Amino acid sequence: MNLTKRDREIIWHPYTQMKDSSVIGIVKGEEAYLFDEEGNKYIDAVSSWWVNTLGHSNKYIAEKISEQLYTLEHVIFAGFTHPKAVEIAERLLKHLPANQKKIFFSDNGSTAIEVALKMAIQYWENKKIGKNKIIAFRDAYHGDTFGAMSVSGRGVFTQPFNRFLFDVEFIDTPVKLKENDSFRQLEKAVVSGNIAAFIFEPLVLGAGGMIMYEPEILEKMISFCKANHVITIADEVMTGFYRSGNFFATDIIAEKPDIFCLSKGITGGVMAMGVTSCSQEIFDAFLSDDKTKTLYHGHSYTANPIACTAATASMDLYEEPSCYANIKRIEEKHKVFFEKIKNHSSILDIRQKGTIIALELYADEDTSYLNSLRDKAYAFFLNKGIILRPLGNIIYVLPPYCISNDDLDYIYQSIEEFLNTQIKSGKRT
Ligand SMILES: *Cc1c(COP(=O)(O)O)cnc(C)c1O
Repeated sequence: MNLTKRDREIIWHPYTQMKDSSVIGIVKGEEAYLFDEEGNKYIDAVSSWWVNTLGHSNKYIAEKISEQLYTLEHVIFAGFTHPKAVEIAERLLKHLPANQKKIFFSDNGSTAIEVALKMAIQYWENKKIGKNKIIAFRDAYHGDTFGAMSVSGRGVFTQPFNRFLFDVEFIDTPVKLKENDSFRQLEKAVVSGNIAAFIFEPLVLGAGGMIMYEPEILEKMISFCKANHVITIADEVMTGFYRSGNFFATDIIAEKPDIFCLSKGITGGVMAMGVTSCSQEIFDAFLSDDKTKTLYHGHSYTANPIACTAATASMDLYEEPSCYANIKRIEEKHKVFFEKIKNHSSILDIRQKGTIIALELYADEDTSYLNSLRDKAYAFFLNKGIILRPLGNIIYVLPPYCISNDDLDYIYQSIEEFLNTQIKSGKRT
């Protein structure tokens, strides 16, 4: 029996309606490619759910991990430490803004968010200041655990759980022409005096549909929060590690958030790891002779040495000039395609930041995540040997940084072909 059949008997897949799903058995990865058990080759144009920044089966990372496996595979991280945890913490702090002073490890993006929320809520609790609401963007996605779901926009993903999620002050995402409305909503919520924190995906909202907004409005929002003693939490889980063009999306704004959440690209997509960093002020609020002020949070695999090694090895690669050159190369290629395609009659909107390009397509039915256009597009591109996973009617390309120009051109051509042959042209708004 092949993998597809054996899998179908016993495995439940993420974000998958299992009634009529079929999965492809992948047996090998190499740079931007994946190979299935029948020998078919696919371009991984979505970096395997946005994690694989440095290409599949990266040999440099593999060697470093292999050495670490024979040295120290794991150690409890309460009461103990190890060289790779200290090294990655030191190196992350060099890339993070100067106000970031402490690193807390967990094992995925959602847990990095949980930790950030707990830090923010307990910060006020420890100071005996009763602030208990969080502000978030209406289109946000921060993960799938309950706290992360609570601060995410309510929609298809959260619907069965909405009544269990804590109350959040949602404001409009400050997309073009909505900046003033969104800022006024933030202002109104903040002056109520009950706001503990403001959490946001900086400049690009990923799962919400690759929705983009400008650094100026984010800077204004962070400044306002800071002036009013509201903790700001940057969810850089997707945007970090050059995805949005700079090392961190918030690098281009002067006003720096108090807490950062990192994951996905942190290990080059090789191992599961989450990091929450914070300012000295946040950390200090937990220092006390009173043990109830401790942050009682931890995971069995906290700061796993193999994951930390995948992160330090990835950091070596990120710090090479050739990595940045690749980011700029992809960015330039995306821009050329953007200019070429932007007036196509099937496109409602087109957006680009860093290595991400997203096309919102005209759909003559519901434009939600459940749109049937999604399945049609997914099948079309898979058939061409390209893995693209549209978010509803939004097709996006978010490739590993080692992808070749030829492969990018092939993806762009295939998108054009899809638009020309598979989509009705629509009303432009
Ligand atoms: C993917 C993602 C998360 C959740 O990370 P997981 O590792 O999937 O739990 C959180 N925030 C953002 C912005 C993400 O893109």
